[in-house]
Formats: sequence, C-alpha cells, structure tokens
Amino acid sequence: MLRLHDTLTRQVREVEPREPPRLRMYSCGPTVYRSVHIGNLRTYLLADWIKRVARSQGWQVMHVKNITDVGHMRQEMAERGGDKVIAAALAAGKSPAEIAGEFEAEFHRAEAMLGIEPADVFPRATDHVPQMVALVERLLERGLAYTVDGTVYFDTAAQPAYGALSGNSLEQLQRAAGAEPDPAKRHPADFTLWRQAEPGRQLMVWDSPFGRGYPGWHIECSAMSMAYLGEEIDLHTGGVDNIFPHHEDELAQSEGATSTTFVRHWVHGQHLLADGVKMAKSQGNVYTVQDLLDRGFDPLAFRYLCATVRYGTRLNFTLASLAAAQRGLQRLRQLASRDDGAADPARVLTLADAVQAALEDNLDLPRALAQVWTFARARDLSGATRRAGLLQADAWLGLGLEQPFPALPDPGSWRTLADSRTQERRQGDFPRADAARVSLLNLGVVPEDGPGETAYRVASALDRRHGLISSPLEVADQRGEPDLGEISVSIVSNGYPDDLARCVASIQRYRGEHSVEILIVDNDSKDVAPRLQRLAQEDSSIQTFHADHQLGEGAARNATLRAARGELILILDTGVELTGDCFTPLLMLLRDPEIGAVGRWGALSRDMREFVDAETIDVDAIDGYCLAFKRGRLQETGLFDERYRFYRLLDFNYSLTLRSLGLKQHRVADLPVIMHQHRGWEETDPDERERLSRLNFRRFFERWHHRPDLLLSADPAASVHS
Ligand code: AMP
Ligand code: ZN
Repeated sequence: MLRLHDTLTRQVREVEPREPPRLRMYSCGPTVYRSVHIGNLRTYLLADWIKRVARSQGWQVMHVKNITDVGHMRQEMAERGGDKVIAAALAAGKSPAEIAGEFEAEFHRAEAMLGIEPADVFPRATDHVPQMVALVERLLERGLAYTVDGTVYFDTAAQPAYGALSGNSLEQLQRAAGAEPDPAKRHPADFTLWRQAEPGRQLMVWDSPFGRGYPGWHIECSAMSMAYLGEEIDLHTGGVDNIFPHHEDELAQSEGATSTTFVRHWVHGQHLLADGVKMAKSQGNVYTVQDLLDRGFDPLAFRYLCATVRYGTRLNFTLASLAAAQRGLQRLRQLASRDDGAADPARVLTLADAVQAALEDNLDLPRALAQVWTFARARDLSGATRRAGLLQADAWLGLGLEQPFPALPDPGSWRTLADSRTQERRQGDFPRADAARVSLLNLGVVPEDGPGETAYRVASALDRRHGLISSPLEVADQRGEPDLGEISVSIVSNGYPDDLARCVASIQRYRGEHSVEILIVDNDSKDVAPRLQRLAQEDSSIQTFHADHQLGEGAARNATLRAARGELILILDTGVELTGDCFTPLLMLLRDPEIGAVGRWGALSRDMREFVDAETIDVDAIDGYCLAFKRGRLQETGLFDERYRFYRLLDFNYSLTLRSLGLKQHRVADLPVIMHQHRGWEETDPDERERLSRLNFRRFFERWHHRPDLLLSADPAASVHS
C-alpha cells in the first residue's frame, strides 16, 4: 500500500487510483527558455521515484509531463534575465520555437543522465492552444470568468473553495496584493486565462474567440492534463513553489469547468537550496547537470544525494555534499560488482521487501538507503547474493549500481612516479613527496601511507576537492579566540589577478613593523589560483581559501572573518591600493570605544533608500572598498549577512548594525589609499547589476526602513514607513 503526503488534506494518505490498475499522473514540467537546473531536477526525481514504487503496486502508470513553451515564460521575459536570452537568440536569427526546442532537448538529456525515465507524453503548450481556448470558453459559459478588453480572467470569488490547497483565503490575498492591484481585475487573486496580445506583438500569438492573444500559464496544465489523462487524475506533482498560485489556480479552473475532482492526490517536493536560499536562476545560484559533469561528477551522485533526505525536507546543495554522495555511490557499485558464490534468493527477497516498505511509507528514501547499506555491508553474504540484492533495490533507487566502479589507471602511467615518491619519503624529502602526491592525484591515484607498504586507491571526487571550501562554515570559527596580531586584511578575489597582486604588494610595502595577516578568498576564478599560490609561497602571512563555486560577497567575506586573528579587520577591494601606512591611523582611531567602523569612503542617507557619497567625517555607512573595525565587534554584531550576494548594501547593512549598537562611523579622508577600479561593479552587465541591486535593496529596506533614528540626518518628510 503506497502512502504519500497529500497537500490538499495535509496528511499522509493511501494513494487510490480511480481506475486501478491505471495510475494517471501529471507533473509540471520545465519552462524551456532557460536551462533546467538541479533544483528542478530534484522535483522530477520525486516523480520518478513515485512512478517506480507505483509500478510495484501492480499499477500501470500513465505519466504526462508538460513542456511550458509559452505562458510562464512571458512573465520572465518581462524580467531582465529571460529577455536577454531571447533577445540574443533572436539576434542570432532563431525563432522562439527553435530556442524552446534547444532547451527542451537539453532538458531530456539532463533527465536521462539522472536516470529519470521519460514520461509517456511530453505535451508542448504551444501545441494545445485550441484545448486551452475551449477550456476558457467553458469557464466563460459557466460564469466563472470575465473578459476585460480581450483579456479573460478567472473569477476567484465565484469559486468558494478557492484557496483550499495553499491555505490562503481571498481576504488574505486581498490584503497581500497591496496598494496597486491590476485595475482590470475584480479581485486581486483573479488570474489571467487568456491575455490579449500587446500592440506590436508578432510572435507567439493565436486567434481566439476572445481576440488575438496567448494563454496564461496555469490554463496550460489544466488543458493538457485533461487532454491526456481525462478530467480526474490520480496524482499531480510539483515543487512547493507550484502550490500557489499555479496549482491553486489549476484546481480552481479545472473543477470550475468540470464540477468533478481534478486531482485525487497532490504531492509537492521541497526545494533544493544553494548557499541557503532556493536554487533559482534569478538568485544566480543554479547548477546544471553540465556544471556537475564539468566538475568531474557523476550525475547519478546527485540522485544519490537527493535520496539521502525526505522529499518534504529542504536540501542545501553543496559540492562537498555531492562529493560525499559520489563516494557512497562508488562504494555501493564496488560492493555490487562481485558475483561469486551462490545467490540466496531468500536474503534478496528480505531486502527487497524492506526497501519497498520504506518507499511505500511516504517515500522514505533515506530509510531505504540505510537498509541497502546494511545489506551491502553484511559479512555473511556471498558476492552473488549481495549483487542480486543491490541490483533489485536499484530498480527503485535508479542509481546505476550495475555500472562498473572506476578502477586504478594503468600502472604504466603512474607507478614510476609512485615509486620515486616512496623513495623521497624514505629520504625525508617531504616537499618533493608532497608534490608527487599531487601529481598522482591528478592522475586519479591516491597513495595511502600505512605503517607497511603504501597502498593505492582510485581518487574520488572528495580527494580531488582537497583544499576547497563550499561554504564559510567549513572555515574554523576563531572569533572567540584571542588576538594574534594587529591587523587581518580581508580580500575577496573574483578574478583580476593583476589587481589582486597590486593590492597585496601595497600592503606588503607599507605594513612596516605592524603585524599584518592577509586573508584571501579565491572566489572560484580559474586565473587567480596560480597567482595566489605564488604569493602565498613567498609570504607566510598570506592565508588563502579556495571556493569551489562563486560564493556570494557576504559568504566570501565571512570565510575571512571566521579565520581572522588580528585585533582589527580591514576589508579591502582588490581595486584599492595603499599609498602609505594606513595601519597606524586605523589602529589609533579604532581605540576610541565610540567608533564602530572607519574607512576611506562613506555615505549618507536621508531615507534608507538612497545613499550618497559623503564628504563629512561622520557618516551613516562606510563603503566596503576599505572598511575597518575591531574584530571583537563580530561577537556583538554577528558575521556579515550572507543573503547579500552582491556588494555595497552588504557593507551598509553591517554599518547600520554597528549604528544600532550606538556606534559611530568615521570617514578618514586622508587615509593613504586610492581606488583604481571596482571591476566587479564595472564589468557586471548593467542589467544584471540592476537586478542584483534590486534584490539587495528589498532586503535592506525591509530590515532598516523603520529605523530612521539610525541616520545622522533623516529627512523627517521622507515616508520611511511606506
Ligand atoms: P519551472 O521551470 O520554474 O516552472 O520549474 C519546474 C519545476 O521545478 C517546478 O515543479 C518547480 O516547482 C520546480 N522547482 C523550481 N525550483 C526548484 C528548486 N530550487 N528546488 C526544487 N524544485 C524546484
Ligand atoms: Zn503545471
């Protein structure tokens, strides 16, 4: 008996197909104006696992997964990112259909690489416009929709159950809509079924009884699921972000049109996060399957990783956890590879029953995986039994356990190197032996030195990650430890090795007798690593951190703030160059207990919206180009807010935190530093820059708008409360 959580009734219930043995299942598929990312794929994996368990109930699964090639993308085109892709492709002489086709093909490849079985039908929205139009007509006939200027809206007030799936009420939605709802709508929760084509729109428009236009996003899924699965479907899947408004709206319009149950069981998967926030193109924290391949991972390691948590739990993705998953996967493949002795069918059956029971219990994949591991490690099994059991369990898990696990490369390619390394170790030449170790690793071999002979094993993704960090949490937090020196300089390098070298050289030139440590984050930029290695070799006061992906600015800074041991912290942009000893004045100024931060550049604001460069000494905020504060302050303020992935409001947020502790910030106009170029800013595409700034602004304003008292000269007329 398969039990799954049902979003509508909010309980784990038995899945009961209306006409067993058929199970009709619909999954909201990809929007094909951008690459599918592994967050999307986590949701598709959920559907795949459900299908596999459904089949062992003896059901014949009919699975439909739509391709959104019109509708949803319109909303995105309005936002900047999507727009550019299309603009670029159009510039390359392609049609929207061609672009959609390319991303659709990429989506199919990505699913295949994750072992996701294809759905039975992948209907495209653009091929089903007549069905959508027919559905909209039905809603109009039934008085559940209304037309304003060629645009048709669904009338949510006419559907009393509206809000049941997401737990929203129309009153709540009214309030949430705020001051400027679409004036054409009768209620702010009403949604577009059909939109009139805006003047000049040539592409992706269709004639309809309501006029020329194009369908809304939600109507697609209702029309396509009815077209292939009938009016009542057994199971509908998606990510939790689909619950509202997408599925709420699908539900309202489908049941409105048919007066029968639309979906018997709603299953939603929790999100995949990266750097602590939902993985989404607009956040700039997505990974595609290709990104994983490029970094040397087996895509099925991602599938394994997803199986280690329940689908109702958020999963924060890191490359470090992926590497650990890959090691687990390889080990299982290795255990499944032996085929000796006689197979014991009873043992195989016991495992299969246990795995099936775990999966039938609201898809408890972690428990199933634990059972697989216990079985795989059991000492009293023949190789053949172990293999048979693992492969049987894999029919549900889909981890490709029958695949060969990697063997050591041909000794001809590495044995000589390994032998000379042994020789070097005997002679106590450890630097050379260490260098040889790295070379071996690059050849895919890890030497394991024991008391006797050195053993060799295949390098895993984990071994290759040596020295990389996925998150500042992997850097030991030294904030509670006593000072070891005077100044810790924090530098984050997002490329531009020449700037980095100039900045570092100026610190070295002017540090004099001061004890200065330099903490540098190589923020996943290929061209910096070699330069940095040389710098660190020549100067033992340099400590380096290599990020395995581009950390947000806040997170990258925090890696250095956790490791710092100086009395003060000096944050520098790589575009800054010291032109004299700035350490003496900084140390002196920051001995004043009333001062929270000092720096070369600062800003003032009257309303928390706009910050203007200041010429005064007292300022509201110090610019992060050159920002110094006592390390001990971090105990009171906490680290930087990592949700700021982009510069400036990150620093200002820190300044205001200091202000909220009653501390002043001083701009030191004669501090001997100059700013060459802030390349991170200048070389970011203006559209992208604006988008990132907007994201940060919303966060910042929400946090501080009600604290005009923190500003030196708040404008009493500015409505900081809006
Ligand atoms: P979209 O292409 O945005 O319509 O998303 C396709 C599917 O991926 C939907 O079912 C979403 O709910 C799901 N999805 C989007 N982002 C994530 C994420 N970060 N984690 C899990 N599922 C997601
Ligand atoms: Zn959908």
